Amino acid sequence: MNETFGSGTYDVVVVGGGAAGLSAALVLGRARRRTLVVDAGEPRNAPSSHMQGYLSRDGMAPAEFLALGREEIARYGVELVRDRVTDVTRDGGGDFTVVLDAGPAVRARRLVVATGLKDGMPAVPGVAERFGRDVLHCPFCHGWEVRDEPFGVLASSAMSVHQALMVSQWSKDVIFFLHEVAEEELSDPDLRRLAAAGVEVVPGEVAELVVEDDRLTGVRLADGTTHARSVLFVGPRPAPQTSLLEALGAEMNETPFGTYPVIDPTGLTTVPGVWAAGNAIGFAEQVVHAASGGYRAAAAIVGDLLMTGLDAAVNG
Ligand SMILES: Cc1cc2nc3c(=O)[nH]c(=O)nc-3n(C[C@H](O)[C@H](O)[C@H](O)COP(=O)(O)OP(=O)(O)OC[C@H]3O[C@@H](n4cnc5c(N)ncnc54)[C@H](O)[C@@H]3O)c2cc1C
Repeated sequence: MNETFGSGTYDVVVVGGGAAGLSAALVLGRARRRTLVVDAGEPRNAPSSHMQGYLSRDGMAPAEFLALGREEIARYGVELVRDRVTDVTRDGGGDFTVVLDAGPAVRARRLVVATGLKDGMPAVPGVAERFGRDVLHCPFCHGWEVRDEPFGVLASSAMSVHQALMVSQWSKDVIFFLHEVAEEELSDPDLRRLAAAGVEVVPGEVAELVVEDDRLTGVRLADGTTHARSVLFVGPRPAPQTSLLEALGAEMNETPFGTYPVIDPTGLTTVPGVWAAGNAIGFAEQVVHAASGGYRAAAAIVGDLLMTGLDAAVNG
């Protein structure tokens, strides 16, 4: 821990040390801005052993990616503390007081909220335990690794049709388990598309997963029928970690995939001095997007702090 930790006012406190927060911190550190990252250390993709689709890092372990990021920000004097921010307030002068769970409260002139999101799992026995292994949510993350295997898709609403259609890009053996969705909820165009994609539609509640030797081997329905499957795609219920933004009064936007802050193209929220990046701004932000969003926010903050200082000098 840096011996000046918590003293004075940081130029920027970054909340969250995933791809978005570390990327922001790297740019801020290199721009010589005094920066603190507060990270609770629970990145969204922790259940996965590999991270795919990030050019030049394809297949790297997520933990290794973040460890490299932490090494890189340390080179530029960025401080990082393993803690959780429990509250943030903005004072009349526009600075922030950031309350940590274990550590002291710290002060900051600007904030980056890069707190990610949590995936709520369907309440089918076995699903949560196997998430990130053979229960998957994202074909772009995992599809190549399981190509041509027998897929199941667990419907959570009629919108799951989209997922069933998407995954047919990676396997021609796809069963769409309607689970708690009634067949009548599917539109005629959806049913025609599913048929054209060769996706089999199976009505009936899914009771449990069949697991042998720590591998998914089947999906069992409540009527006892078992379908041999080695991969099950599910639609997690996204819970964006945006309570700090809400506490600050940021304007939020409800979407079918969670409630996210209203932002400008740099990630600036409607609260002056507060930027957001990564899964805190959207469900579909992959690692490469999160890193890019952190970069964009940091660059905007560097310009904002500089101009604010210059204007203060000009105006006396
Ligand atoms: C199973 C799975 C596999 C995936 N595989 C891939 C893949 O192969 N390729 C890909 O591109 N994407 C993948 N993703 C998506 C990927 O996880 C996200 O794109 C990425 O994690 C977003 O980065 P982030 O920085 O926004 O959030 P995160 O990585 O979730 O980091 C947020 C950090 O903020 C911390 N935090 C939260 N609240 C606080 C607080 N109040 N105080 C302090 N710290 C806090 C968290 O503990 C966490 O460490 C996968 C997702 C899942 C669920």
